[in-house]
Amino acid sequence: VNEIVGRLRAVVVEGDVQTTPEILAAHRRDRWVLSELHDLEGRLTALPVAVVEPGSTAEVARVLEVCREFATPVVPYGGGSGVCGGIAPAEGSVVLSTARLQGLVRLEEQDLCASFRAGTNGLEAERRVGEAGLTLGHWPQSIELSTVGGWVATRASGQFSTGYGSIEDLVLGLEVVLADGSVLRLPPHARAATGPDLRQLFLGCEGTLGIVTEVTLSLRRSAAARAGVACHFPGFAEGLDAVRSLLAAGYSPPVVRLYDPAESQRHFPEHCPDARAMLLLIHEGPARLVEAATEASIALCDEMGGTRADSAAVDVWLEHRNRVPGFREFLERGIIVDTIEVTCPWSSAAELYERVTRSLQQVEGILLATAHSSHQYRSGTGLYFTFAARPANPADMAETYRECWRRALDSTLALGGAISHHHGIGRVRREALHEGLGDAGVALLRTLKQALDPMGLLNPGVLIPDDPGSA
Ligand SMILES: Cc1cc2nc3c(=O)[nH]c(=O)nc-3n(C[C@H](O)[C@H](O)[C@H](O)COP(=O)(O)OP(=O)(O)OC[C@H]3O[C@@H](n4cnc5c(N)ncnc54)[C@H](O)[C@@H]3O)c2cc1C
Repeated sequence: VNEIVGRLRAVVVEGDVQTTPEILAAHRRDRWVLSELHDLEGRLTALPVAVVEPGSTAEVARVLEVCREFATPVVPYGGGSGVCGGIAPAEGSVVLSTARLQGLVRLEEQDLCASFRAGTNGLEAERRVGEAGLTLGHWPQSIELSTVGGWVATRASGQFSTGYGSIEDLVLGLEVVLADGSVLRLPPHARAATGPDLRQLFLGCEGTLGIVTEVTLSLRRSAAARAGVACHFPGFAEGLDAVRSLLAAGYSPPVVRLYDPAESQRHFPEHCPDARAMLLLIHEGPARLVEAATEASIALCDEMGGTRADSAAVDVWLEHRNRVPGFREFLERGIIVDTIEVTCPWSSAAELYERVTRSLQQVEGILLATAHSSHQYRSGTGLYFTFAARPANPADMAETYRECWRRALDSTLALGGAISHHHGIGRVRREALHEGLGDAGVALLRTLKQALDPMGLLNPGVLIPDDPGSA
């Protein structure tokens, strides 16, 4: 142990190597609720040997060299806000934190792009470009908790994704340190036909194929005008139909959020009558475009049977949108809570909603099973389920949790959906990846992993299911 720490200290000079028990303990996990439960139960005992904070790309490469020398696994750590168990270092691993890879590297106002070091906090990145009257247009609910590198590693998506796209639509260039210590620089072209898009290998790699050290994002001018629209529909299915029609007609407001009746009551009791499904739209951009799109979307909602509500509901959402209670207060009361986001084609969206919520209602101790839809595409939608359950015996929380997940993912797969829209795979969905990608897809991922990280040192146990054929 002392030997590897000594070697790490020798190569990390700009940054730091931390070994205090508090720092090691603070990097044992992300925000996956099962890890939080195990933590509460005192069962999270494995500790990394060190938390290394390299200060430069060259130091990241040297850290990987040392870890190769000692055959020690490396777990990348950004903001630690992941919710799928992407960070759970085995005893003796090295945690590679991007905490010292900070800040804006360059801002090109004419080209509308900015490069950030990977550990830059999301809100800080937005603030830096905001000073120039620009925006990233990427607003994950965790913007204050997450890093630019973490967004890439998890294939994140923000609240304005319907109009502005998710992280894969915003990333122009990447710098990645590979397991062999080489540095890959993928330049920030607006587009290129230079073979397969290598950036995609790292968008969603969850730290298993390389360490992202710098990210160039495309920017947009801060919107000149903004308008909110709120209306409600007789039910979730009718609302989905209206959203589908809006997208099919060629409109893509940055924000399109449809809540089922239970969530509509939870969030907008003053603006949505009981048993109705609330739809919120935000149009942004040049004033004339916003005016035209607002008028057209109101007309379309009317046509689809919607009833206008006070657009103050949109302000309520804007104000509260990033406030979420932590899991711990629920766990302490014996209640297990989580969210499951999936994608499905429009043709099965209403049925998937019904099936999952109905199936969750049958779980012993279930308190609620609700959903909203907040990421829209011409060919499908993201459904975001929330469940909470209090099993009679608190010791059954983990089993109840697994059952809820199984039910939601089985229904999603049966109806042709994708098992994750934006949180990623981590540990919670790893076994479902066989069905999600097919055996050939998993085999290809393993081939890529073997080629890029033959010693299997980068974040083992995450994303890629174990190969039962290998010893
Ligand atoms: C309250 C809350 C709200 C959330 N809302 C959203 C949301 O709206 N949209 C959304 O997409 N997600 C959301 N998330 C999930 C989470 O914030 C995202 O997955 C985020 O992108 C993770 O970033 P991070 O920097 O915290 O990564 P971490 O949690 O530190 O890491 C995530 C994974 O990526 C790997 N990793 C981290 N940095 C790097 C790097 N530089 N190179 C290679 N691998 C790396 C880690 O090993 C891990 O496997 C939410 C989470 C919380 C707690």
